[in-house]
Amino acid sequence: MLTRAEAERLVSTVPTGPYLAGRWDSSQSTDTFDVIDPVTEHRLTTVAAAGIREVEGAVSHARTAMDEGEWGRTDGSVRALLLHRLADLIEARSEEFATLESLDIGKPCFEPRAIDLPQTIQTFRYFAGWADKVEGRSVPTSSYMGRPTHSYTVREPVGVVAAITPWNSPTMIGAWKIAPALAAGCAVVLKPPEDAPLTSLLLASLIEEAGFPAGAFSVLPGLGAVTGQALIDHPGVDKISFTGSPETGHKVALAAAKGFRRTTLELGGKSPQIVFADADLDEAAQGVAVGIFANQGEVCAAGSRILVARSVYTEFVERLVARARAIKVGDPFDEGTTMGALINARQLGRVCEYIAAGVDEGARLITGGGRPHARGFFVEPTLFADVDNAMTIARREIFGPVGAVIPFDTESDAITMANDSDYALAATLWTADVSRAHVVARRVKAGAVAINGWAPLDPRVPWGGSRLSGQGRELGWAGIEANTEEKTVTAVLSYTPDK
Ligand code: NAD
Repeated sequence: MLTRAEAERLVSTVPTGPYLAGRWDSSQSTDTFDVIDPVTEHRLTTVAAAGIREVEGAVSHARTAMDEGEWGRTDGSVRALLLHRLADLIEARSEEFATLESLDIGKPCFEPRAIDLPQTIQTFRYFAGWADKVEGRSVPTSSYMGRPTHSYTVREPVGVVAAITPWNSPTMIGAWKIAPALAAGCAVVLKPPEDAPLTSLLLASLIEEAGFPAGAFSVLPGLGAVTGQALIDHPGVDKISFTGSPETGHKVALAAAKGFRRTTLELGGKSPQIVFADADLDEAAQGVAVGIFANQGEVCAAGSRILVARSVYTEFVERLVARARAIKVGDPFDEGTTMGALINARQLGRVCEYIAAGVDEGARLITGGGRPHARGFFVEPTLFADVDNAMTIARREIFGPVGAVIPFDTESDAITMANDSDYALAATLWTADVSRAHVVARRVKAGAVAINGWAPLDPRVPWGGSRLSGQGRELGWAGIEANTEEKTVTAVLSYTPDK
């Protein structure tokens, strides 16, 4: 593992501008933005932002690549090969990717190595597997005017896909969008998060080496309100694949509605973790702590509402508090750090405001709540007990290391509270009763339910939510469906039976 000084030197090797039409092009960029290290609060680098002209250029090159160029004619087996090559190149440089991800975002060094990078590589390989298996169906249809018909469907790429990613896990979430779109034969224009663009820029530097033709993949760094908005407003974009906040998701939906363009919206969450009285309390405390404190709580699926059976409430809360206090908050590059810094000063301010709201509304602060270091955007792992599901800290997505513990009396109360939320993304159940787990899993409103542990992420299973958590699914076969249009072909056969 690299030291902080080595990691900082690595930043100078990453290109810092738009990548389009198969080359780095910041000739038209007039604006720049600084990338800030959340730990030192110093500038890591300055990136040339893509403006209207780069957006125009990237979309028109993507269109040409699809409609007239090599990419639109590329066979699925070749797309598979290219995606495998890209996965191999990422794997060969996974140390660089992981290091930059920690530096850019402030997450502890073990997390990108254990989760983000293996996931990214697996996602590219998984969708490489689909690239030559995007098949249609043969459909029996009625005869027409006495003549038999032959109907079948083909799946065709949606077209130009705008992929917009958030800063919490840009490499992995980028892969969730890029890999299925390229596998389906779409051209991708990626707008990475302005707070953490480095790994997306590094990825672009591997695209040509992997052998993708110009225009198949572009990266447009820039601010959301400028570059992102111009991209989603562009009529040449056929589909918008967005992960971020519900507020921005709403803007994406409005922009897409103008041309009835396709969207996948992966938005926020306020996910319940339900601990039943028969759960293994040690395991549950450990798992619940991971569910809320991993990646500093900056996880869409963070299990921020911790519903605990009243009969084990005190015992469980003690164990959970012990887990929270054992977390070492610090520089991701320091030995033993298990939790890093929040992404920026704005996010730190937001999280601190929510903590203050919890105290003001009468929740019991049982651990954390403060800033452990004078410099850097750090917050202590924080837990509130005796929370009411109507309080602000139980309703709003905090996107920080703040858990709200809520007691419940009956299974039915727990389910009612779990479902009483504007969000419906994920849920975790802790119980020794397997039958109960499966019954409750069906009754909880969520796109994904985990039983007795955070199952490892896997690109084979679909991911997404409903309500304010978004629309549509990524990953699995759903990822291919989301990037293809199904076309029906019906032939009326000229057929005269032999007399
Ligand atoms: P955000 O909405 O502020 O930004 C997300 C992306 O959208 C960034 O790249 C940003 O530049 C861009 N953007 C901002 N304004 C835009 C506009 N007007 N037009 C087009 N693009 C625009 O979200 P964030 O703060 O980066 O991420 C945090 C949010 O993302 C949280 O709500 C979190 O729950 C959610 N999230 C969801 C998932 C999921 O899979 N459901 C995963 C990670 C994060």
